Amino acid sequence: MSAALIDGTAQSEALRGQIAEAVRTLRDRGVTPGLAVVLVGEDPASRVYVRNKSARTVEAGMRSLDHKLPADASEAEVLALVGQLNADEAVDGILVQLPLPSHIDSAKILLAIDPAKDVDGFHPVNAGRLATGQPALVPCTPLGCVILARSVQRDLSGLEAVVVGRSNIVGKPVAQLLLAESCTVTIAHSRTRDLPGTCRRADLLIASVGRAEMIRGDWIKPGATVIDVGINRVPNPAAGEGKTKLVGDVALAEASEVAGAITPVPGGVGPMTIACLLRNTVQAACNRRGLPVPDGLA
Ligand code: NDP
Repeated sequence: MSAALIDGTAQSEALRGQIAEAVRTLRDRGVTPGLAVVLVGEDPASRVYVRNKSARTVEAGMRSLDHKLPADASEAEVLALVGQLNADEAVDGILVQLPLPSHIDSAKILLAIDPAKDVDGFHPVNAGRLATGQPALVPCTPLGCVILARSVQRDLSGLEAVVVGRSNIVGKPVAQLLLAESCTVTIAHSRTRDLPGTCRRADLLIASVGRAEMIRGDWIKPGATVIDVGINRVPNPAAGEGKTKLVGDVALAEASEVAGAITPVPGGVGPMTIACLLRNTVQAACNRRGLPVPDGLA
C-alpha cells in the first residue's frame, strides 16, 4: 500500500484564499482585522517566522503591526507593550513570538494578553474554554492538524485517535479538538509503557514528539491517517558535507507503505499553522464586533 500524501501546502493556500475572501467582506463593512506580532530579540528562526507571518497577513488583506524589542528588553517593557496592544482598538490579534529571552517569564506574558485577542490560543482562558466545549480561540498548529485529518475523512467521529506528545501548545489541544470531533482519544508521552502498541491502535495518529523519525512503519495500523507535527533538522550527508534537512517524527518512507494517508515534512502541518493564525485573527475580529465568523472559516 502506498499512502496518499496530504498536501498541507495546497490546503493552506486554499484556506488563505478563503480568509482573503472573508477579509474582503469584512473590509466592505469597514472592518480591517489587525494582527500585532511582538518579537523580542534577534533569534534568526523567530525573525523568519515573524517576517512570513507579516507577509501572509498583508497578503490576506489584513493589517500587520510588528513590534520589535531588543533582546535585553525587560519583562516590564514587554508587559507594557502587551497592555498597549490590548487597549488598541485597531488590534484584533496579539501574538508574542516564542521563545522569549530567558530573563522573561513567558507564562506571565501570555497571561497578560487579552483572551479575546489571543490568536495563538495559549491563554488559560482559551485552553479552559476548549476543554469545556465553549467557543474559544484554538491553538493554530492543532487546528491545522484537525483540518488536515478532516480533509481525508470528513467525519472523524468514533475513530481511535492517538496523540503522541502532551505539550500545552500541540499535544493537549489537539487531543481536546479530537475529543470534540467525537474521537476516542489516547494521549501518549515519554512514560507510556508500550508506545508502538499504543500507536498501532490508532485510526488517526498525531505525532508531536520532536524526535526525528521515532515512529516507525510497523507502529502504524494499516490504512491509518498519520499527521506528523514534528519538525526536526538532521544531517543530510547525501546533499554534501555539513548539509541538513528537515524530517518529521514519523519515518515517512516506511510509514507510507502502511498508512492510508500521511502528511509529509516539510509541506504538511507546517504551512497550516500560519493559515490558522490568520483564520483566528478573522475570528477574533468578528467576535470582538459581534459579527458572525464567515462561512467556511467557522
Ligand atoms: P515538547 O518538547 O513540548 O513536547 C514533546 C512531547 O513529546 C512531550 O509530551 C514528551 O513527553 C513527548 N515525548 C518526548 N520523547 C518521547 C518519547 N521517546 N516517547 C514518547 N513521547 C515522547 O514539543 P512540542 O509539543 O512543542 O513540539 C513537538 C514537535 O512539533 C517538535 O518537533 C516541534 O518542532 C513541532 N512543532 C511544529 C509546529 C508546526 O508545524 N508549525 C508547531 C509546534 C511544534 P513528556 O511530556 O513525558 O516529556
